[in-house]
Order: sequence, then C-alpha cells, then structure tokens
Amino acid sequence: MSREKKRFETEVIHSGYDSKKYEGSLTPPLFQTSTYTFAHAAEGERRFAGDEEGYIYSRLGNPTVKVLEDRMTAIEGGEAALAFGSGMAAVSAILFHLLKSGDHVICSKGVYGCTFGLLEMMEEKFNITHEFADLSTEESILQSILPDTACLYVETPINPTMEIIDLELVCRVANEKGIPVVVDNTFSSPYLQNPLKLGADFVLHSATKYIGGHGDVIGGLLVAKSAEAIAEIRMTTQKDIGGIMSPFDAWLLLRGLKTLAVRLDRHCDNAEKIAAYLKAHPFVRNIYFPGDKDHQSHGIAAKQMSRWGGLISFDFNGTKEMAQSFMDELQLIKIAVSLGDAETLIQHPASMTHSVVPEKVRAAMGISDTLLRLSVGLESWEDIKDDLDQAFAKMEESAAMKQES
Ligand SMILES: *Cc1c(COP(=O)(O)O)cnc(C)c1O
Repeated sequence: MSREKKRFETEVIHSGYDSKKYEGSLTPPLFQTSTYTFAHAAEGERRFAGDEEGYIYSRLGNPTVKVLEDRMTAIEGGEAALAFGSGMAAVSAILFHLLKSGDHVICSKGVYGCTFGLLEMMEEKFNITHEFADLSTEESILQSILPDTACLYVETPINPTMEIIDLELVCRVANEKGIPVVVDNTFSSPYLQNPLKLGADFVLHSATKYIGGHGDVIGGLLVAKSAEAIAEIRMTTQKDIGGIMSPFDAWLLLRGLKTLAVRLDRHCDNAEKIAAYLKAHPFVRNIYFPGDKDHQSHGIAAKQMSRWGGLISFDFNGTKEMAQSFMDELQLIKIAVSLGDAETLIQHPASMTHSVVPEKVRAAMGISDTLLRLSVGLESWEDIKDDLDQAFAKMEESAAMKQES
C-alpha cells in the first residue's frame, strides 16, 4: 500500500528529494554556487520576468536549500517554507513582512532575548509597539487586541519557564479577528508540535537547535500556511534584507533532520528521568518542565505536544553565587547557551540569554537569579545524573564547611 503522505519518521528522511533527478545521488548534492548560467539572453530575460522556472542567483534560491525548504514544508504541514542564515533572520523577515510603522504586536509573556531586542528596536525606530499579554483566556486575548494589532507572536513552551500557550485557543481568537499568528516552535521541534495544524499562519525555527541537532550550524526556517505569503517574503524581506542560508548549512541541516525523530525520543526519555531526579533533590526549589504534573501548564502541554521536550529549568535552592558555583562544579555537562545538541548544556538565563531583558521584566517573566536551564543531551541519562549529583555533593560540602568555620 502506498500513501502520498508518509509518516513523520519517513518524511524527515525522504521529503522534497528525488534521487533520480540528481544522478542517483542518495544524499542531496551540495550546490555550492553563487550564480547560474543562462543558455541565452532570452532565457535570462524570461527568468527575471518570472515567465520561466529556474535559478538565477543563490540569494533568490538554491537547489540544496530548496530540498530543505520542501522537507520542512512537509513535516510542519504548510504550503511553503524559506530558509534563513539564522533563527533571528527568520524572526526579522516575518516581522518586517507583517508590520508597518504604527502597528501593534501582541506577544506571549516571554520571548527569546534577541526577539525582545528586535521588538524594542522596532518600537524605537518605527513606532511599532508591542505588549506582553496574558493569553490564557479568550477574554484576556480579546482585551489585548487594539485597532492597530497586526500580529500575534508566540513562543511555546516559553523560554525558560516552560509556560505553555494554548495554541488552539490563541489561533481561534486571532483568526476570528483576522490577525496573523506567528509561532516560534524552536523548543518543541516539528516532532513534538505542529502549530500550523492548530491554526497558526506561520511557524518558525532556530534550526540551530533541534533541527541541526549537532551544534555545528546556525540557521533559521520559516514555514507558512500559505504559499503566496512565502512567495512574497522570498521576493521582499528575504531577497532585499538578504539573511539567506548558505547551501552548505542547508546540507548539514538536511543531514541533521534525518535523525530528528530518533534524537528527540532520546532527548525526551532522558529529560523525563532527569526532571524526576531534580524534582526530588533538596538543592532544587522548583522545576519547570511541561511533563511535571505540578507544572502550571501541564494540561495544555498534554493537549498539544506529543511529548515534553528536552529542556528543564530549575530554581537552585540558595544564592545566585551558589547557583553559579554549582555550574562550575559540573564536569560532563557544559556551560553554554543554545540547546538541542547531543551534549547536555547548562546556562544561567539572568546573566546570559535574558541579560538584555531589564531586571523588572525578568522578574515578571519568572526568571530569578537562581534559575538554571538545562538542555538535556543524548548521553546516558545516568551519566548526566551522576554529574549533577557530584556537583550537588560539592555544594553540600562547601555549605557544611561554611557552617563549621
Ligand atoms: C536560538 C533561538 C532563536 C534565535 O535563533 P538563532 O539561530 O540563534 O538566530 C529564536 N528563538 C528561540 C526560541 C531560540 O531558542
């Protein structure tokens, strides 16, 4: 029996590529070229006029990048996609596409630090205002909508507190008002959550994270419900601002994507075990993990995510200095921002990813000075746990020593 649309685990390996068109090459070839030759002047004229399909110049399109875009379209369930040189290039392209001077943006209560920076810049330079709104009920969403609201921009789970936005609810209310919804789906990856299927208009990823999965590439991806919107962005905020993806990065991301499902299953298995370990530890005041039954958004997460993801934040039971010393005691776990890599990574949001956010806003977002964020990797979960364990033990020793002296 043959199905036109294959299952997720198959789509990440096969979608968008036909080896018969490329000399039988099993792996999509790397088209490392800046430009394309025309057979004659008339062909060039027709391509520029849009009367004939074909490549012109790699900022406008590249065959390797196109395979990645088509594969993402299939796995997020959209009509078309675009690849960018970074997640932030994708964020800025979609915001510049949807917004004009005087417009208003509604955001989830937390957004990625640089997205926050971009929104601040847009307000200062172009009078595009934004509001971090409570999106938990229909009434609160309706209350935040102004006559000039032109975009609803959400991240879920919200970094780093893992609060979940009910996408079905938000999309239904926004759709009724004709306001496009953009979802940053980086934390879930397309394997755990597909916002377009829940009514969003655009979904974007920092491909640097789970999609690449190996910590060796920076990239961004934007997928839309409408192919028309993507065609327009391709010829405006992508072509003219120019934040395109290189063919080699697309090639690496195609390679990463093939193992997305198997990797995510392991990330999720490990994270569940590490979350249970952390929750029971006396040095941990609180954990922030959607899979935790006591987490405020556990129910919504269960409704829209197939699993809980690989990220856990936790409040260290002590001072900021102690939380930082704890990080320094870790041996296997690396201190680094970014996430979704094979290596387990830990970072301190207040002084790292969210240091650009003013302290008051940070506090409102629930980011204390003792909050730590762990991106659980693909190592043996027992080795990850052992490393946490020995670092906690060192903290206990130093606390005991302080009491003695
Ligand atoms: C990393 C990240 C971004 C930015 O992506 P880059 O690839 O670093 O430009 C945007 N959103 C989220 C949620 C991220 O984690």
